Amino acid sequence: MENIKLLKSGEFLVREVEAGDIFIPEEFNEEQKMIARTCKDFLDAEVYPNLEKVEKSDRELMNSILKKSGELGLMGISIPEDLGGFGQSFVTQMLVAETTGAGYSFSVAYMAHCGIGTLPIMYYGNKEQREKYVTKLATGEYLGAYCLTEPGAGSDANSGKTNAKLSEDGQHYILNGQKMWITNAGFADILTVFAKIDNDRVLSAFIVESNSEGVVIGPDEHKMGIKGSSTAQIYFTDVKVPVGNLIGKRGEGFRIALSILHMGRLKLGANVLGAAKKTITDSVKYANERKQFGVLISTFGALKHKMAQQVIRQYATESAVYRVSHDIDTLLHTMIEDCGDYGRGAIEAISHYAVEAAILKVVGSEMLDFVADEAVQIYGGMGYSAEMMVERGYRDSRINRIFEGTNEINRLLVVDTAMKRAMKGEFDLYGEAEKLYADLNNITDGIKAGESYFEEKRRYIRNFKKAILLCIHGVTKKFGKALVHEQEVLNNVAEMMMETYISESMELRVEKLTGSNGHTSLYKDMLDVNLFDTSDVIRKSALEAISAFSDAETCPVLIRAIENLSRVACVNVKDARRRIADKLIEDNEYKF
Ligand SMILES: Cc1cc2nc3c(=O)[nH]c(=O)nc-3n(C[C@H](O)[C@H](O)[C@H](O)COP(=O)(O)OP(=O)(O)OC[C@H]3O[C@@H](n4cnc5c(N)ncnc54)[C@H](O)[C@@H]3O)c2cc1C
Repeated sequence: MENIKLLKSGEFLVREVEAGDIFIPEEFNEEQKMIARTCKDFLDAEVYPNLEKVEKSDRELMNSILKKSGELGLMGISIPEDLGGFGQSFVTQMLVAETTGAGYSFSVAYMAHCGIGTLPIMYYGNKEQREKYVTKLATGEYLGAYCLTEPGAGSDANSGKTNAKLSEDGQHYILNGQKMWITNAGFADILTVFAKIDNDRVLSAFIVESNSEGVVIGPDEHKMGIKGSSTAQIYFTDVKVPVGNLIGKRGEGFRIALSILHMGRLKLGANVLGAAKKTITDSVKYANERKQFGVLISTFGALKHKMAQQVIRQYATESAVYRVSHDIDTLLHTMIEDCGDYGRGAIEAISHYAVEAAILKVVGSEMLDFVADEAVQIYGGMGYSAEMMVERGYRDSRINRIFEGTNEINRLLVVDTAMKRAMKGEFDLYGEAEKLYADLNNITDGIKAGESYFEEKRRYIRNFKKAILLCIHGVTKKFGKALVHEQEVLNNVAEMMMETYISESMELRVEKLTGSNGHTSLYKDMLDVNLFDTSDVIRKSALEAISAFSDAETCPVLIRAIENLSRVACVNVKDARRRIADKLIEDNEYKF
């Protein structure tokens, strides 16, 4: 393991790291850049020219584009070499997810195949299953799909009715049931199907070949967006699944399903970056061509504000994406040694970062929705035209807040997972919160004379964390076990945690960059605006939570503490945003 201070998942709430301890995207090596270029070239050559046709739900065409990406080696990035892949680091996997993320429907089909469609077998399968299936999924000879959702079981995924019974001769499981909303259903060869054996309380996972007798694939759903991605129902009637196709142990399926979703959330966090960068480039190009009132619309302050916000939110999310990706790579080495198996070790490391995975999923999907929405606005009436890429991007973006666990579920997970890990003793959340609360009357903003630019920013973030601890202390004391029924305050805490993690990642990145080249005034502008916005979220969310848990005596003291902890110095955010927008306008593309 590299000699860096690796935080446990959620531990960022009570510990700091140094800028030198995190990985930043500016540190990609030549091989990683070359892989990203290959992905980009693939989009230019195979995906963009076919977008109109695949949008008409042309299953054959999407199937053939996916196969081509497999031939080019793009499906084996996460697969070790002994199974026919390229065994790339998690950071590289995320860079590929980012770059292909600019591929509209293709991106969803490709990510579903490489991620949820392949990795349950890769991570949890035995040697025979991996050799039989993963080797072919790694090249695109087989395409994969992940079948968890049912008509009656969406967010409550363990409540599915699909059932498996051992045959009398003990050779097969007989599968019956129905799955819905299955990505790649129209052409997948291999299905990972979650079902309960007999009357089990929890799911098991099975590999089902889609050409098995009794498997029927429905027609594609008519969707709002990602129309080129095949999404359909799958029906299973007395399907004979060989006993050797049970993945892991009986009853391990729910754990597998959840772990794979952690992975999917992380990759979604990277995926949206590619889509956002492309959308920002589309926005500025249009703004640099369109004239109104005799001038380019890119000269208007209102549009500069929009473009700067697009850039800042994208940049902040990106900082967190690669910070956690590298943490996973670091943990992965230890985990693989501990587990004695690449697959199990890799998924243990990924699942460990469940809090950050949920954060990236929510923040990333909402960042892209913001970027896509503002792109349509910058285009004006043309943004509403189905001929424009930004119109497609707007529709395609929306799904990200729904799949891989809805954002409501993920917000709850951010808080719940961190609190559970702390209760297990992984880090001292409650002790730190207790200490802080005991000193409630003396909480100030902690400002020190002569503090440097970055000392000041780190103090802000330390203060935001204190505000979170006060709220966690308050809601835990007030609601106890009933806290699960107080989703609104859990959302308040989630909001504060997410924005703080993202801001901290951005601060560490900008600080590291300053150390490396010193030319970072624009990045400091971005950080200034981001912290200004985050302080607002902290203040509002904390005050909402306080009003729900405090009494007449403590309420004013808590409010005063939050006012102190959320205070940031006044900066001219208007000018800062203008400088950021001006660089974008000059480059005429996203180049931060
Ligand atoms: C295009 C597309 C592709 C998909 N691909 C796949 C796939 O490949 N494989 C697969 O298995 N599934 C897939 N899904 C399914 C997807 O994961 C589910 O739609 C999602 O998990 C939500 O489930 P649901 O649709 O049943 O919504 P519901 O669970 O019914 O949720 C409805 C609303 O209630 C909220 N809600 C539910 N429970 C809670 C709670 N406890 N607290 C607060 N709010 C709650 C939700 O957040 C949401 O706002 C896909 C879906 C779509 C639309």
